[in-house]
Amino acid sequence: MQDPYGALVALVLFDQKITSLKQEIIHLKNSLEKASFERALAAEQLYRARAMYADAIKRQDALDLDLKSCMQELARITGLLDVAASSKEAAALTRERDLAAKRCASLEEEIERVWEALSELEERRDSEKIADEKANILFDSVSRDLNVTIQQKKDVLNSLYTKRAEYTTVIPIGLLVPYERIHERIVNPYVPLCDDFCSGCGSSVSRVDCAAVAKHVLVPCQNCCRVLYDPSVVAGDVCS
Ligand SMILES: [Zn+2]
Repeated sequence: MQDPYGALVALVLFDQKITSLKQEIIHLKNSLEKASFERALAAEQLYRARAMYADAIKRQDALDLDLKSCMQELARITGLLDVAASSKEAAALTRERDLAAKRCASLEEEIERVWEALSELEERRDSEKIADEKANILFDSVSRDLNVTIQQKKDVLNSLYTKRAEYTTVIPIGLLVPYERIHERIVNPYVPLCDDFCSGCGSSVSRVDCAAVAKHVLVPCQNCCRVLYDPSVVAGDVCS
């Protein structure tokens, strides 16, 4: 049977495996969220490009109507001018006609500008549509892969949680309870003493404490308060 100290250290290492697996799952979920955000962003940009194009079409239609009525007004004034009864009336109508002609010319210029903008907006809308389609395809593929990987890791995590009891049952209560209590609050609360340094914070550990750790006494690091353990009880190098 494994000695209690070695069993506790084995549990510490087992819990590190659980912690790193949980971190991997969090990282994968973050990647999934990022992919989802990028897909939503592409959809939003397409929506905006479509709205801007639709607004430009409306503006163009309104300007076309204005120009049509302006041309009609110009024709009406020109008709009146042809039959003006006096030079005074002709002068007034000439001023009106000039104003109407100026307005028509200004509308034509505005229509030209909107037409040019429309062509750019149409191109932008089409390119956003392609970008949106690509984002959807990418998201479908990435999310499918990520969801599969996340589920696989969750399954492994659940099996580790089940297996954890095998480690805890062989540890005396006096060693287990203090560890469990601190383990609930702090990630990796027990760390190996490596070459007389705390591997949690990198601080130098006193000779007295190093000697105690070598005798398998659980002493806290004076700097970070993590509990130090003797790595020589572990198979493999935990200090690298
Ligand atoms: Zn420390």
